[in-house]
Formats: sequence, C-alpha cells, structure tokens
Amino acid sequence: MREKFLVFGSPLIGEEEIQEVVDTLRSGWIGTGPRTARFEQEFKDYVGRNRAVAVGSCTAALHLSVLALGLAPGDEVITTPMTFCATVNAILHAGGTPVLADVDPETMNIDPARVAEKITPRTRAVMPVHFAGRPCDMDALMDLADAHHLDVIEDCAHAIESEYHGKKTGTFGTLGCYSFYVTKNVITGEGGMILTDNEEYADRLKVLALHGMSADAWKRFSDEGYKHYLVTEAGFKYNMTDMQAALGLHQLRRVEQNWLRRTEIWDTYDRELADLPLALPAPDAPDTRHAHHLYTVMVDETRTGISRDDFLQAMNKHKIGTGVHYLAMPEHPYYQQNLGWKPTDTPNATRIGRQTVSLPISAKLTDQDVADVIDAVRDVLRG
Ligand SMILES: *Cc1c(COP(=O)(O)O)cnc(C)c1O
Repeated sequence: MREKFLVFGSPLIGEEEIQEVVDTLRSGWIGTGPRTARFEQEFKDYVGRNRAVAVGSCTAALHLSVLALGLAPGDEVITTPMTFCATVNAILHAGGTPVLADVDPETMNIDPARVAEKITPRTRAVMPVHFAGRPCDMDALMDLADAHHLDVIEDCAHAIESEYHGKKTGTFGTLGCYSFYVTKNVITGEGGMILTDNEEYADRLKVLALHGMSADAWKRFSDEGYKHYLVTEAGFKYNMTDMQAALGLHQLRRVEQNWLRRTEIWDTYDRELADLPLALPAPDAPDTRHAHHLYTVMVDETRTGISRDDFLQAMNKHKIGTGVHYLAMPEHPYYQQNLGWKPTDTPNATRIGRQTVSLPISAKLTDQDVADVIDAVRDVLRG
C-alpha cells in the first residue's frame, strides 16, 4: 500500500505561478489591478465571449448573474438537483424561487424533458450545470428557453474546456459562470468569472462586484491620480485580487495540457475498471468535448456487496482520497424545511447521490498514483 495519503483534487501548481505571485507581492499592487484585468482578457479569449467579470468565487458569479436578471418575488429559476449547493443558494439570495428538474440517469445532466414539465408562467430562467464537465443537451435547452423567453445561466464550474457541437460551453446562455476553487480545472485558490456578450449586464456586474462603486473604482489609488467614486447601487465585495489572478494567468496557459493529462487518466480508469461491478461514466455524446473534471463511479450495494459509504471509508484506509458529487439537493434539511423538497421528487439524482464516488483525476497525479487508485478500488471490491 502507498505511504502517503493521496489528497482528492490536489491542484498542479507550476513554478511560473509561484514566481508570478512573488512578483505580484513585490509590485506592491496585490488587490484588484492589472493582473486581474489581464486574466479577464485571456479567459474570455480562451472561451470566446466579449466580456468578462472576475470575481471572488463561482458562488459570487452565480449570485450576481441571477441578480442581473432582476427577478421579482415569486419568479422561478429551474436548475438541477445534481449540483453544489451554491447553484441553488444563488437563486435564493437573488430573491428567486429555485425549482428542480431531475437529471438524466446516464448523463447526470439536467433532462430537458423534465425542464419542460417544470415551466410555469413564473419561470424566468434555467440554470444548467455541465456536470463533471459533460456538456448539457444545449440544443434542447436553448429551444425551450427561446420558446418560453427564458434566460439561461450556465454553471460552468466543471466545464472550462467543454464543447457542444463545436461551441464552448458558457457561450450558449446569457451568462456563464466559472470556478477557480482549489479542486477545479483552473485554480486561483478561490476565484470565479462571469462571461457574457451582454454589455449592459457586464457593466453592471463590474459595479455590483465592487460595492456598487462607479466604473473602474479599483484604479482610485493608481498613478493616474486619485479619482472620486460614486456609489450607484448597494453592491457586494466580490472582486478578484491580483494575487488570485497571478495564479490564474499561468494555470490558464496550461489548461489544454492539463486536460490532456486528465483525459489520459480518464481513459486508463475506463479501461482498467471495466470488468468491475461498478457503473462507469457514460460514453461521450457525438460532437461534444468532455472537460473530464470528475470521474464518478456508481457503487450499487446490490451489485458490489459493499455500501457506498463503506466504500469511501475503505478507500480512505487505502490512503486514497475520494469525493461525493453530490448528494442530491433535496437530501439537505434546509431545502426540505424551507422549500418542501423531498428526495423522492428527483429520483434519478437521489439514486446517483447515494451511489456515486469521485475518484482522483487531477493533472498532478503520477502514473503510480493512478495505478494505486485502481489497485485500491479492486482491493476494496474484492472485500
Ligand atoms: C465548485 C462549484 C461551485 C462553486 O464554486 P466556488 O468557486 O467554490 O464558489 C458552483 N457550482 C458547481 C457545480 C461547483 O462545482
């Protein structure tokens, strides 16, 4: 057995990032500044959208994006039960009512047929999550959105590199939201980004992300001379700093290289785990590109003889860190008590949430790490 615990989602950080952080510290400008502006520019160029607003997290990105829609009380936003709680909380904090549409049991992405069933006269938007990096069925979702005049906010926390029919995810909806949290495909420690082609939204989101102060207030202490700022809205402290952007700039330059490495690990798992009584990720849909952010296997106790939670513990004993993405949203007491959600409302997501295990797939993994994960899985299932 390996000596050292394999931390789940540990990021690959290069010397370039470390040097850029040191340079940022020495520059004396560590808050929002020129590196944040450059990271916004390079990120929107990579994805292919007109405007970018860097923020402190994807949670902030989602919150501001829903706020931009200007929901009235009672307005509904349809999202997936198979996501991180931030997606749902963003809708609540922006004054909306979240409505869940169950996922497809194979792709684990929001099912457009279920979305259609949930549309009411109060529906204003749909928030799909490209789960694990697999693009949602955007043709069907955009057709629904067009037919019912709904906005689409894409949660691209897993999906920087994903493509659907030749177009990057995050370019279909009105707004796309990204995460640079430590376990994600590009990391800045904590960080997020909103991309849009809507100039009005972008201008307003920049202001909202920095206290509601008028445009470019971050420059008020620069060598251009002191500038007064005027508060035009009650905004938030959601800005990204140059310390974060310093990491992001170099992470972004290696985004394709890291994707290739994760793809290699993905293919190895597909090959080496194929004979086990686990359900592996569904094959890619034609003409799509999967970001390979999460490799999830289903531990169905009736097939494996071991429960999912016992499997997690056993992997831990083998010194392999794992994750659970995610318990379905209706499993959480807050939503049960305040929104009346029940796990039986979204049976596909609930089953996935109770069986799923995410295996490590960071670009940092060595071939030996990957072999250790495979050995551990085989050993645990052997009992
Ligand atoms: C990580 C994640 C978020 C939140 O991202 P933060 O940057 O940590 O705020 C939102 N949605 C999904 C699907 C995520 O995986």
